[in-house]
Amino acid sequence: MGRTTDVLIVGQGLAGCMLALELHKREMDFLVMAPTGARPASLVAAGLYFPLMSRKPAIDKVFRTCYPVMGNAYREAEAFLGTSLLHEIPSIKLFPPAELEQWRAFQHGPEGSVIQAIADHAVIPGIKPGWSMAVIRPSGYVDLPLLVQACREWLIRENRFINWHLDHSGVRFSGNLVKVNLSGGDFVKARHLVFCEGASGASSPWFGQMGIKPNKGELIDIAVDGLPEKSIMRCSLNLLPLGKGKFRAGATYCNDPVNDIPSRKGLDELTGRLREFVNLPFRIIAHRAGLRPASRNRKPVTGSHPRFPNLSVLNGLGSKGVLQAPYHAWILADQLASGKVPLIKGLLKKQDKDVTLRLPG
Ligand SMILES: Cc1cc2nc3c(=O)[nH]c(=O)nc-3n(C[C@H](O)[C@H](O)[C@H](O)COP(=O)(O)OP(=O)(O)OC[C@H]3O[C@@H](n4cnc5c(N)ncnc54)[C@H](O)[C@@H]3O)c2cc1C
Repeated sequence: MGRTTDVLIVGQGLAGCMLALELHKREMDFLVMAPTGARPASLVAAGLYFPLMSRKPAIDKVFRTCYPVMGNAYREAEAFLGTSLLHEIPSIKLFPPAELEQWRAFQHGPEGSVIQAIADHAVIPGIKPGWSMAVIRPSGYVDLPLLVQACREWLIRENRFINWHLDHSGVRFSGNLVKVNLSGGDFVKARHLVFCEGASGASSPWFGQMGIKPNKGELIDIAVDGLPEKSIMRCSLNLLPLGKGKFRAGATYCNDPVNDIPSRKGLDELTGRLREFVNLPFRIIAHRAGLRPASRNRKPVTGSHPRFPNLSVLNGLGSKGVLQAPYHAWILADQLASGKVPLIKGLLKKQDKDVTLRLPG
């Protein structure tokens, strides 16, 4: 019993999927481990991407870095997995007329081409009067639940998927290999483990100190007649058209309590914010919550452990997983292929300070 592989990816949300696809392109030998019944952030998220910062007309640095890789990665995933994932839809950003001057100045600046048009007065069926608007492109969404599902079907077909929730305390180091025990005496041995555990990575004995800070997000699906369905509406929340009069509205950000249970408070916040700009009656048809794997410095966490270099991590994708996952998976896959994953600086110092920490191995 037992299998040996080059790379064992722990977790099959967006990060695990994109890394698996990148390793496959490099013809590397790998397995992916995740529990099938879990409901990770990737199954809850709206999957939106957008070129601007949320509060002002300025290019988002993450977009500038990651977008050039993002488009190709999802298009290749679509072709490979035989499904439609990346949906390019313009965004209509509603803002108070007092900000018009700022928006026009940005439009005429060096990166203003993402703004296709600005209108002093937004006249949109179902939208309250009194807003100005900008039409922004590129923008859109990636169908993350479909990506996770299609990726899982591929992994199962290829016999690369292990339905298992890894118990960190059961990881053993033997020579150059890391051994993970499964049920009934079964095991996997890998030259490299890559943890793509999302929010639950916050309690990892190896990478928990890297500042993964789960953040709760809630969103609702609504049915509403008469709202245009060709753009994503962005105001005090984002409204993604799902077709046939249905929309996904979100999301909230909450650090207390941090759980994935939809709450009354979240629902009130979402409906209240919707009513700030939508003047049509709507019916709530779904309400979901999930945990974003945010990080304290808002940067993804990638690299390998200084004391256990055959343990690496790809986490901390936060609220911009769609943009960041392909870029960082691509870099990490190159590093894994070349056998040179940079060590995470400062990690040991943090862990040595924490006397309660026990490092398995
Ligand atoms: C309400 C909400 C809305 C969002 N909207 C957007 C958006 O519009 N755009 C955007 O870019 N991002 C959005 N996000 C963020 C996005 O969901 C995340 O950045 C992204 O999905 C994180 O992917 P991940 O693979 O790191 O983590 P996850 O999707 O959480 O996946 C983690 C994986 O690890 C597995 N796992 C965990 N522990 C173990 C273990 N011990 N053993 C085995 N497997 C394990 C889990 O089962 C899962 O498969 C949103 C998030 C939320 C909650």
